[in-house]
Amino acid sequence: ACAISPKAIVSDACASYSTLERLNRKVNPAVEELVQTTDFFSYYRLNLFNKKCPFWDEENGMCGNIACAVETLDNEEDIPEVWRASELGKLEGPRAKHPGKSIQRERPKTPLQGGLGENVGESCVVEYDDECDDRDYCVPEDESTASKGDYVSLLRNPERYTGYAGAGAKQVWDAIYGENCFQKSSFPHSASLGKVMMPKGPAAMDFKAVIEAAGRQQVLEEQRQSNPLTPFVAKTGLEHEAECLEKRVFYRVISGMHASISTHICWDFLNQTTGQWQPNVACYSNRLHNSPDRISNLYFNYALLTRAIAKLGPYLSSHTDYTFCMGDRDQDAATRAKVLSVVEKASSVPQIFDESLMFKNGEGPSLKEDFRNRFRNVSRVMDCVGCDKCRLWGKLQTSGYGTALKVLFEFDNNDAPEVPVLKRTELVALFNTYARLGSSLSAIQQFRGMVEEGEGAA
Ligand code: FAD
Repeated sequence: ACAISPKAIVSDACASYSTLERLNRKVNPAVEELVQTTDFFSYYRLNLFNKKCPFWDEENGMCGNIACAVETLDNEEDIPEVWRASELGKLEGPRAKHPGKSIQRERPKTPLQGGLGENVGESCVVEYDDECDDRDYCVPEDESTASKGDYVSLLRNPERYTGYAGAGAKQVWDAIYGENCFQKSSFPHSASLGKVMMPKGPAAMDFKAVIEAAGRQQVLEEQRQSNPLTPFVAKTGLEHEAECLEKRVFYRVISGMHASISTHICWDFLNQTTGQWQPNVACYSNRLHNSPDRISNLYFNYALLTRAIAKLGPYLSSHTDYTFCMGDRDQDAATRAKVLSVVEKASSVPQIFDESLMFKNGEGPSLKEDFRNRFRNVSRVMDCVGCDKCRLWGKLQTSGYGTALKVLFEFDNNDAPEVPVLKRTELVALFNTYARLGSSLSAIQQFRGMVEEGEGAA
């Protein structure tokens, strides 16, 4: 009875902000322990450099960072090189190439040994080629590339302020929100066609129309949601809900992800006067506090991921495929125990999000396919992000949400022959995205306190 209906952003009665914050206080230490102390969850494999932005020519859309940074850092030339956006956006730490298909094919019974970065045995990170599954909400990281990409240490590359901003970043966000525009045939979508739509050349006209329509929709959205009576529990416009609940959910997932990224930028912000990394209350006020709908969407995502992780729990504990490495037995057992601890805590509240209300009406199945295709496109747009660190976290979190949606909408689909087994990259993305959301909730609470105390609010 207390599940959040997708119709409400965060319902007052059952899952107020404080309910989710209480839950987060319980879950967050466990999930942080998992993502910070296990090799399995602190290294992510992705194709960060080899994929071209499929939506626009790089010279237009890919910002060289220096140019992007001009709007944020008044004069790039005037600041020390280490603080420039191009430096801040660089990846740090060991990176290693995937061992390659020939080695993978051997499928060794004993773990491979080799140098995949500090303290990471290959046994913990090797992944075999997987088939693409129709039920994926994201483009698998290895799609259409010979190599499976690089391993990146998430601990060495925290999500924080990088100075990436300006036209390049805006173009990416516009394209992402453009996917929320569900009108028919705006441009062809991937899953049914097998490959990405490409709004270059003449098709760019359509793409522009989509973005403009999305912009209008967003303005309406903001007007509709700025209800001064409800500072933290945003109400939804039921008139729109009646129209299409699923489209609203799509928008909230994107907006909540954007809000979480903004929260980390503001929380881990570089003060270029002192050179200190510290919270920036004015940044929080401008981007989040004065837009309660964004905060509400962030909490909505927290509820959605909590539900996905709770739902995944029984599969993780019973499925023999989830052995978390097949390498060092002690380490694997410790990782498994930490995963199950997160699951147990996330399951300690009554079902917190009711996904069964979605994709129910007549157009349910086709709408679901549309929803899935659009989410895949969002994951493709991430290849257009012109800052390495931002792209890393953008890709990881899109994959995390994609995995959560797959768990919510595909795991109890009676038509499906079997429950899809999640890949390692999906699990890593899911739990790290959950950790990111948990840390956003904590930061928002602290920022709220700072605003109330009048600390540096704009
Ligand atoms: P933006 O955040 O660029 O927002 C653009 C517009 O979207 C706003 O004007 C507003 O109308 C609307 N909007 C903003 N927030 C929301 C929301 N939550 N819901 C709905 N609408 C909203 N920068 C970093 O410093 N570090 C990072 O790790 C980083 N990661 C990024 C990852 C991705 C995928 C992208 C696209 C960008 C990333 N950036 C990062 C850049 C960052 O998100 C901003 O684009 C940049 O800081 C400029 O911010 P802005 O204030 O101009 O507004």
